This record gives sequence, C-alpha cells and structure tokens, in this order.
Amino acid sequence: MFLRELVHPLNELRGVGPSLLHTLSDAGITTIASLLTRYPRDWEDRSRTAPLKDWNKGQVCTVAKVIAHDWFWFGGKKTLKAYIEDQSARATLVCFNRPFLQNQLAMGKEIRVWGRFYYKFGEIQSTAFEIEKSGASSAKILPVYPLTKNLNQNLLRRLIQQAVDQFCPNMEDELPQKIISQEKLLTKSEAIKAIHFPPSMETLEKAKTTLIYEELFYLEIMVGRRSLERKKVISNIISRSHEGTEKDAESTNNYQNFVPSFASKQCLCERNSENKFRNFSPLQQRLIERLPFKLTAGQEKAINEINSEIAGYFPLARLLQGDVGSGKTLVAFLAALRAVDLGGQAAIMAPTELLARQHADNAARLLEPLGVRPAYLTGNLKYSGRAQLLKNLAAGEIDIVLGTHALFSKDVLYKNLSLVVIDEQHRFGVTQRQAIIAKGQSSLQRKNIPDLIMMSATPIPRTLALTVFGDLDITIISDMPPGRKPIKTHLSKESNAGKVYDFVRKELEAGRQAYFVYPLIGEKDSGDSADDEEGLKNAVSMANKLAKEIFPQHSTALVHSKIDEEEKRKTMDAFRRGDIRILAATSVVEVGVDVPNASCMVIHHAERFGLSALHQLRGRVGRGGDQSYCFLIYSDQEDQPGINPEELNEEKRSREGKRLMVMLENSDGFVIAEKDLLFRGPGQIAGIEQSGYLKLGIADPVRDADALIRAREAAFSILEEDPGLQRNEHRCIADVLEKAPPFSEVGL
Ligand code: ADP
Ligand code: MG
Repeated sequence: MFLRELVHPLNELRGVGPSLLHTLSDAGITTIASLLTRYPRDWEDRSRTAPLKDWNKGQVCTVAKVIAHDWFWFGGKKTLKAYIEDQSARATLVCFNRPFLQNQLAMGKEIRVWGRFYYKFGEIQSTAFEIEKSGASSAKILPVYPLTKNLNQNLLRRLIQQAVDQFCPNMEDELPQKIISQEKLLTKSEAIKAIHFPPSMETLEKAKTTLIYEELFYLEIMVGRRSLERKKVISNIISRSHEGTEKDAESTNNYQNFVPSFASKQCLCERNSENKFRNFSPLQQRLIERLPFKLTAGQEKAINEINSEIAGYFPLARLLQGDVGSGKTLVAFLAALRAVDLGGQAAIMAPTELLARQHADNAARLLEPLGVRPAYLTGNLKYSGRAQLLKNLAAGEIDIVLGTHALFSKDVLYKNLSLVVIDEQHRFGVTQRQAIIAKGQSSLQRKNIPDLIMMSATPIPRTLALTVFGDLDITIISDMPPGRKPIKTHLSKESNAGKVYDFVRKELEAGRQAYFVYPLIGEKDSGDSADDEEGLKNAVSMANKLAKEIFPQHSTALVHSKIDEEEKRKTMDAFRRGDIRILAATSVVEVGVDVPNASCMVIHHAERFGLSALHQLRGRVGRGGDQSYCFLIYSDQEDQPGINPEELNEEKRSREGKRLMVMLENSDGFVIAEKDLLFRGPGQIAGIEQSGYLKLGIADPVRDADALIRAREAAFSILEEDPGLQRNEHRCIADVLEKAPPFSEVGL
C-alpha cells in the first residue's frame, strides 16, 4: 500500500475513542495517512548531553541528583520545588500541578532531565521539564510535533508510534528503485519511521532528504505531464522539427521535445541556437533594419528561440525573463511581427493602462511604417471608436492589438489570434491567464490555442520558475543594451531628505528628469498636509509641495491609479517629451515605464516596499547613457531611529536596514528576488500566491533547490523515454498517480 492509501479511520488505533477522534479531526488528522504525514516540526536530541550550566544555550539534557525539597502554596495547592545538581551547576524544578512527581524526585535520586531553564529569583529554574529514571531507557531523539488545542506531545508520539509499528512494514515505495539507489535514499517505510523516531541524527537527515526528494519528484512529474498533455492537444502524434525552418510542416513523427528544453540537459539560459538568424521573417527583418541600434545578444537569442517555435504544430509557451531595461518590449514586437507574417493576429497585454498605452505608442511609431496595423484597445468605455475597433479586429483588419486585460473581455472577438504576449505577467491572476488562452481557442478561424509568451521583469527566482512555471520553456535575456551605467543607489533617512532634494536639483538643472514615488495616493480633502495620519507621505500632497516649495522652478506633475486615463496619458506624454521634469507618483510607475532622460528615482518610505518592487522602481532610471541615481528614503521612526544602515556593520543593522542594504549591494534582479524570498517567504512572491499552487508538505523549492533540479531532471528524462509510464521500472509512478496522487491539481 502507498502511504496516501492508508485512509483507515483513526479509531483502528488503540486508545482512540470518540472524543479523541474529534480532537484529532479538529487538528486536521482524520486518517492514518494524515497522522503519519504530520511530520515533526523539530526533534529533541536527548542523546546529547547539555549540562545545567549551559541552560541559556538551549534545552538542558543532563543526569542530575535531587539534593533538596521545598514546598510552597500555589493556587491553593501544595507545590513541590526540587533542587537538583549535576556536575556543572545547581537548579530547581518547579512542579506546578504535578504532585505525582514527588516520588520520582525523591531525595538523593538520580534522574535524567530535559527542558528549558530560565534564570528567575536568583536561581536557574524550569517549570516545563521532563524527567526519567537515569539509566531507565537509553537516551534517544524525540519528535516534537506542531500542536493544537487538546493535543499534547506525548499523546501524538504514542499514536504515531503505534501507526508506524502497524503500517510501516507494508508500506510501498513510491520512487523507482533505480532512483532510490542513485540518490542514496531510504525506502519509504524507513523514511517514515525515521522522520518520526530517528535512531540517529544522520538517519533523520536521510529521511528528510528522501521525503523531500520524493515530493519534488512527483511535483515535476505532474508538471512534465501537464506539458505533455498541452502539447498533445494540438496534434496527436506529429512533432515539429526544431530546426525552425519554414518547412516545419514536413516534420517527422517523434516524441522529442514534448517536454521543455530543460529536460534535454541544456541549461536554462543557454539553449543551443545554432541556426542563428537564418530565419527572420520579412517584417522582422525590416524592423531590425530600421532600428537605430543593434539587438543585444540576449534579444537575438530570445527571438531565435521564439522563431524556431512559432508556426510549429505545438503552441509555444514560453516565459521570457529579463531584468528591468533589458529590452523585452522589442522582443515582443518582433514575435508579433512573425505571427503577422504568418497570417495571424497578435495581442500584447500589459497590466496597467499607462504601460499598455506606452506599448501602443511605440507600436505605432515602430510598426506602422512597416505597413502593419496596430491598435490600442482600452477598457475605458469613453474611448471613442471602440465599436469600430472591435469590428476591425473581428474582420482581421487589425494585426497587432495592444491593451490591458480589456483585450480579453467578452465582446472582443479575434479573427485569427495566434500569439498572445503577456507583459509583466506576474501582475495577472491565474484566471485572467486562463481566460486569455481560452480566448485564443474561440478565435473565429483558428481552433487552436494561441502561442503564449509571458514576459517578466520581476524575475521569478530560478527555483520557483522551475516549479510554478515548470512546464514552460524559459528564455532569459541576461544582458543589457550597451552603454548603460550602473545606477548609484543611496539610503537616506527622512530627516536628511533635504540633501537628496539638493542633489536632484542639480540633476534637473543639468537637463535631467526625476521620479518621486510615495506609498500612498492621498486624499483630496486632506488639506495641504503632506503627511497622512500614520505619518506617511502621499503622492497628491507631495506633488503640491514639490511644485510649490521644493522645486518651484521646474514643472511637476502627478500620476496615480485613480487619475483619469486621458489625463494620465497627457502627463506621461509631456514627461516623455521633457516638458514635465518631475513626476510624483505611486508605484504605478513601477512597471514598464520607459523615459530614458530620467536620471533620478527618489522613493519615500522605502521600507514600505518589497525588494522586487524597489528594483522595478529603480529600473525606471538608468535607461539612457547618463549616470543615474536612486535614493531610498526611510522613516526615522523605524526600529533604529535615524541611523543610516550604511554606516553600520552587518550585525548592528536592523532587519529593515539589512533588507534595504540588499538594494545597495545588488543590481541583479534575480539576486534581489532571491533575497526578497528569504525575507518574505515564497508565499508572497508576486504572482505565486495567486496560483494556489505551492502547497508542498515537506519540501521548500528555495531551500531544496538542488534536490529540485535533480528531481526535475530525473522526472523529465523518465517522461521523455516513457511518456506513458508503461515500463516495468516506472510502473510504481503510474500506480502512485492512479491510486494515491500527491497533488490534486497543478495549476498555472
Ligand atoms: P524592459 O525589458 O524592462 O521591458 P524595455 O523594453 O522597456 O525594457 O527597453 C528599455 C529601453 O531599452 C527602451 O528605451 C528601448 O528602446 C531600449 N532598447 C531595447 N533594446 C535595445 C538595444 N538592443 N540597444 C539599445 N537600446 C535598446
Ligand atoms: Mg517592460
């Protein structure tokens, strides 16, 4: 039997009556399987000695002698205080509500004692301790379980011990034997036994490794199978050639490349692209010729990879990651041109109207001269000409449409949508992404799923990319357009903001532009006070202050999400032209906005923003050839009032200081995202929390990144060789999936 098949009710265990059954079920433990997978949150190593004198270093675990008794009254009860002594120190055990300990703690007895001790009333004392006759049982490693109301350690230990004894002997392995021996893992039965009652710390580690690997292996098997299924939807057998020539249609039958490229042991970022550039489509060629610059190597590689897949029989699903400013927009345009050359339509979706508008403007500027017909579709009902636009779209008279999620509202019909690009994909929810894919299937002409390119500038840490987006091909643009200077970043406390303003003033006078970002929009009626009740600066009132008091000689404007679309557009246009020099904003400028002449980014209350958001904001500057600057201003009220973490050494920095220092010490978005993860935990990484996906039991894709990569390779190579899992040695995988699947749904 597989572990998850043990759905027996718990009253099969001795001593479990109706009331205990109830308590257990409240704690989410309803079957033997759920009892056995209630893994300990910690282990107490009683095989090691920790003498009384080391009470402040952690749990004490020692053999001591009872040397005196004392009785006192507590809560109307006579309470024992026993004085004990080991070779290192003296201490007291206070036996609240445990009069029965009197015998075990008789004068002169030697006992083994475990527990936490504190220094109280001039003595080292403990109230929560456990004792045992010394020499009674050999010292061992005990599990410590997460508890809920009415459950205690001893009870759980006893029940789990029973379940282990009764059910482990017949527990079947869920991993193929070959993997167990290759990875030097324990059998499932050994692993479950040892995770609860490890004979040694070493075996405990092995048990953890085994269960973690197994979980990640099945995660990747599910991911790989999802990929297989999606690719099979389009064609039952036919594969496409990976050569990327226009002759894709003549490809031969094979199962290769059913699974993402990572499986073929090519590194994530360095997929072979030998057929360099033979195949720009005509429109791509023309755009590239008109550009005032050369594509970066990363852009070339990305387009090359995209070209080799679009127009194949399988829908492309690719995650295009590139740090802020790496030039993803152009890659999206080139991909769209290829789709148009092949007679399809492309939709490019951005998360904010500001960004969608910017894309639309760029598309008009770059693509219209090529004879391509781009259009901007806004959700704004006031937008005139919407009806006509929808008509044109359905008639195929628009080639590339740019907009927000309005691109996929009910009334929007496409004639032949063949490519969807989602910019800043982490900003969209799962349901939105699914609606988009469904839309492609309902295109008037095409009964296919459109190709999908998801772009992300908030880099998903590589390890998470492998899990959540594990069935996508991944392209990483790892270089930047040439000539960019690294952005100089500084921390400043609020009370020093004046110096920052002086610096920015010089930049403005030199012809540059600046952003000022605030965490709040601000109420219209909050008068002219720049601070709201919590003492946070807001964009509305600060815009006023910037314009009137701080930089009266330069033009200032305001953007935030509540400003009317038309006004926002005018403001952004003016800022782009340089007519407006200072933009006060909320984090709406976080994504995508591209104004190369802006050289200063000032972020107030930087402590309020996640590191990835700060990285995004900082990425708004440094887009031209000039030296750019980012100032992170933090409140003086933080736990280290007024102390600039830059002036402190590592240990003395507050947590907040440490977090902000990451921004000073790193410019690579991937590194920053990984660190963000450490500070915030995976649940909060943009986009991931919406996926409802990362419900892992024991593995942690970040901590266990190495195991994840090995598990993924193993899972994918099995699927590549034996997609149906029909071979004998893979039987157990098929069985597990059928009888006891570890994940109910692996949703993107
Ligand atoms: P992101 O990847 O953050 O979306 P963008 O697409 O907004 O980046 O590009 C950032 C800036 O770099 C834009 O001004 C764009 O015109 C410019 N750019 C893109 N590709 C190149 C290139 N190959 N050489 C020089 N500049 C480029
Ligand atoms: Mg962008």
